[in-house]
Amino acid sequence: MKLHEYQSKIILSKAGVPVPRGEVASSINDVGKIATELGGCVVVKAQIHAGGRGKAGGIKLVSSSEEAEKSASELIGTNLVTGQTSSSGAPIEKVLVEEQLNVGRELYLAILMDGETRGAILIASEAGGMEIEKVAEETPEKIFKVKIDGGVGLLNFQIRQIAYKLGFSSADIREFNSLVMGIFNVFVENDCSMVEINPLVVCKDGRILAADAKINFDDDAIFRHPELQSLHDVSQDDALESRAAKSGISYIKLDGDVGCMVNGAGLAMATMDVIGQTSEGPANFLDVGGGADEKKIAEAVSIILSDTNVKKVLINIFGGILRCDVVARGILLAEKEGVTIDRPIIVRMLGTNAKEGLEILSDSNLNVTLVDDLGEAAAAIATA
Ligand code: GDP
Ligand code: MN
Repeated sequence: MKLHEYQSKIILSKAGVPVPRGEVASSINDVGKIATELGGCVVVKAQIHAGGRGKAGGIKLVSSSEEAEKSASELIGTNLVTGQTSSSGAPIEKVLVEEQLNVGRELYLAILMDGETRGAILIASEAGGMEIEKVAEETPEKIFKVKIDGGVGLLNFQIRQIAYKLGFSSADIREFNSLVMGIFNVFVENDCSMVEINPLVVCKDGRILAADAKINFDDDAIFRHPELQSLHDVSQDDALESRAAKSGISYIKLDGDVGCMVNGAGLAMATMDVIGQTSEGPANFLDVGGGADEKKIAEAVSIILSDTNVKKVLINIFGGILRCDVVARGILLAEKEGVTIDRPIIVRMLGTNAKEGLEILSDSNLNVTLVDDLGEAAAAIATA
């Protein structure tokens, strides 16, 4: 689960991490009031669940409350498309109005769960700001990583080492240490998968503040934090992903053009790899799970085809508890319920009642290609 920047900053601020003065607003009138209180020289920041806002025009530096209102009116109610959103973008319903900082240096600081070391790591760089992805790719030596021991936690000497690498003088160490510990405490106490500060700004007057903040919670631990669940802004969710979640279908929208329906997460990943080798790539991840019934299969088919990027569909089922004939009937049920199955469907079915399932499909009037293995599936995707 993701938070907005303004929500992340409230949590960080409570943990003692300095953030710029400011307030969130959803009306132009409020933007004007907040900007006036802050002295007019403010930053108006679009609140969406994605980064890359600066480059996309979602961060406006203005020097009067009138300009702040004008910027806000250009942002609120529109969709912002950034390098991290889908091509349709994310809706801006709120803006954060903050004091403008007199930026000296922009640093990068994050604590996140790392698959490689199987634990939390601290990542820092002196080259923070809007080009951090480029820095990571082209000059990885500018990015420092510290493994955090799960048993003992983040230690002061580790923070000190990072502080020196980031060019802080010994006079700044105490302040930096408390800031990083604040971030670490937020990370641990809320079961976060990531707390990212980019940029961590060192102002010309020496103040160190989190100018941007991104907090993600571990979805598998969110049940332990009922107080956090109410922070979820559903307006930022992908419509198809929320629909799938309601039916207990694991669905993640991706950028390719081959939709897929699979049972089992591992098989779904393998299927996506096969699709990736033959085409523009998978349009989604979709695991119907073990206990799906016809209705759930029909809903999955409907969700896949609702994505207008989808040009073909690969259905790869290894029948176990989920019987292949149930899947076949589910596909037909989708059509009966009004889903137009107008794109080629490639089906591979093995296991429980596979023969029956394949018969149901080949007897139907659907444009289905039945294949025996993933090699044949790949070939069929290429020619469909
Ligand atoms: P992101 O692009 O979505 O990550 O949004 P950020 O909140 O990180 O803002 C993007 C960039 O705007 C930052 O890297 C800064 O360069 C700039 N910026 C943000 N707030 C301020 C500010 O108060 N003063 C100045 N001068 N620049 C700012
Ligand atoms: Mn940022």
